[in-house]
Amino acid sequence: MLDSMRKTLFFEGKLPSCYNFEVLLATGVTHIMAPAYAFTPPQIARLREHDVKLEPVVTMQSDTCPCHPLVWDDLQRHINKALPAAFNGSGIMWFDHVRFSGKWEQSMASPPGIHEDCSLCEGKNRLRSIANLVRKITNWLPPNIEAGCFTVPIGKDYADTRHQLGQDVVSLGKRFNYVSPMMYHRSLGWSVGQTAGYLSWLKERVSAKVLPILQVKDFPDGVPDQLTEAEMAEVHTAVRNLDLPTAWFSWDGALEKGKTKALARIWQ
Ligand SMILES: [Zn+2]
Repeated sequence: MLDSMRKTLFFEGKLPSCYNFEVLLATGVTHIMAPAYAFTPPQIARLREHDVKLEPVVTMQSDTCPCHPLVWDDLQRHINKALPAAFNGSGIMWFDHVRFSGKWEQSMASPPGIHEDCSLCEGKNRLRSIANLVRKITNWLPPNIEAGCFTVPIGKDYADTRHQLGQDVVSLGKRFNYVSPMMYHRSLGWSVGQTAGYLSWLKERVSAKVLPILQVKDFPDGVPDQLTEAEMAEVHTAVRNLDLPTAWFSWDGALEKGKTKALARIWQ
């Protein structure tokens, strides 16, 4: 299958109704990103029967300094756990929160909750610290496993935030095979045009393949959802016009807000 044709759902697995396979398959999904523990072996076998690829997501601890060796041990343990859970010898493993903490979704210019210097990271260049960690991650993976990373959509603007989070998508794109920019445009207050503009900028600069992940509802949980199907379709079309595939965050959100049929219609 052509990569640009993939239809991807991010699966949190929080709701029991997530496991209604009829509803899930009716969307036309081809790939599912999920924590390795989200599916049982029989469920994984059922997805394989329908030719849906499962791609495990490994999340780095968000409450500990990324320079702490325990974070590395934890990551390595999670990678080893995820490997046999989902693969027949090849596939993609996704990494989330490969950065210092900070709520960029709330303010790109001055995110609250930025990790304060501690004894482990004081005086260090955070971009370099994360680059070192990424080198470890990609070296731990067997050669037949590709690596993808969810990235904060910071382009040429917000250089301070990029340094505070220690995440530079252009550098990450040299080590990871895929980057998945979290295009939560409503949370960021971006228009569809700005969203497409960022992706166009990104596509020109990274050697990694780009898989934008789009929001299915307004964040955070609890705020009224005013994201319409028409606007979801508009963002989706803007991404497809750049010849990029789409992922949706998240399947749980689509179920919660009754948008599963909307996803199917948009993907048709
Ligand atoms: Zn620290």
